[in-house]
Amino acid sequence: MRLRTACPATPRAWTVELRSHAGGLVLICRHCPHGTTPITAASARSAALAHLARHVRSDLRPPHLRICQCHERGCRWHPRHRGCAGPIRLLLACERGGRLWRLTDACSACAAATARAAVVPDTVLARAPQPPATARRHRRSKGPGERIRVREMLSYLAAALPENTSAAARLLALQCALRMNTHMRVRLSKGVMRSLRLNAASGPWHELEHARWLRTTPGGAANEIAAELLDLTLLGQAPARPDRRRAADWALRASSSSAVRAIGPLPRLASVYLAASTDPESGTGLGDLEQMARACGTRTAELLGTLDQLVAAGLLGSWQACPDSGDLQWTSSERRWNGPQPRSRHNSPEA
Ligand SMILES: [Zn+2]
Ligand SMILES: [Zn+2]
Ligand SMILES: [Zn+2]
Repeated sequence: MRLRTACPATPRAWTVELRSHAGGLVLICRHCPHGTTPITAASARSAALAHLARHVRSDLRPPHLRICQCHERGCRWHPRHRGCAGPIRLLLACERGGRLWRLTDACSACAAATARAAVVPDTVLARAPQPPATARRHRRSKGPGERIRVREMLSYLAAALPENTSAAARLLALQCALRMNTHMRVRLSKGVMRSLRLNAASGPWHELEHARWLRTTPGGAANEIAAELLDLTLLGQAPARPDRRRAADWALRASSSSAVRAIGPLPRLASVYLAASTDPESGTGLGDLEQMARACGTRTAELLGTLDQLVAAGLLGSWQACPDSGDLQWTSSERRWNGPQPRSRHNSPEA
């Protein structure tokens, strides 16, 4: 008898389709043998993501057994690029105006080349068991970690939330995703709510409930609001929650300076996005206008006005966009840029 090597048996790429059907919509999975599931229009997106998440969770593998599934299929999902490169990540992609959803392992180069797609943040993806020798190292607790976590979460939410989700609801979703516990429950304190300029009865909570992304739950203490997140792709918790919490605090500081607070949720969200995408060494950033508009739940034309607003408020040094390529470049308003710094206790948003 020969021992089998630990070769991946099934490819880590799953696709579901939402199709119109007599009297409604059905979800069709290309990998599940048993037909179709009827769903409602309001729950279509969350049902598709939940189904894909279940496939991923039933096939957790250590990193060295994961390969670029995009390359395996001839790189048909994106325009040509120079070839596969970078670590393998889990990529969520959406095609045909939200009718087709795909979750797949892809290299960083293929992920970056795929339109309407977002890397699922490693910070929240359930991981296959790691060899014990590498399991526990000293965690870095400051610096680029927070910035990258916030950037990836914003990008993920751009794909996972309905396109018309408002900037205020996205700011709220960012805080919830970064602060939730291992049971996908989150409690936002009054201080955080004040910084977000939200109260329990406000629209953004309803928006996220309507999108079936979360559900507020009774029984929280008087000075906090409790909710349960329903986005199954966010299941699993690595690295530890304090790291994500620090990223949540970082995002809160980026969106709650007195100058940003005065100019509404969209500039606040844009400010967080730019802060998370700025190179801390040079204080400059390079991005894609359309991608940023999607992450902010707005259109590019409106976003240009928002960038002007940020410059006028002294929160952004300068910006320029190339209309042909859609490239966006900016410089931060501070010469040496280290991200939003913790404030002293007396005017902290948490106080
Ligand atoms: Zn399936
Ligand atoms: Zn590819
Ligand atoms: Zn690739």
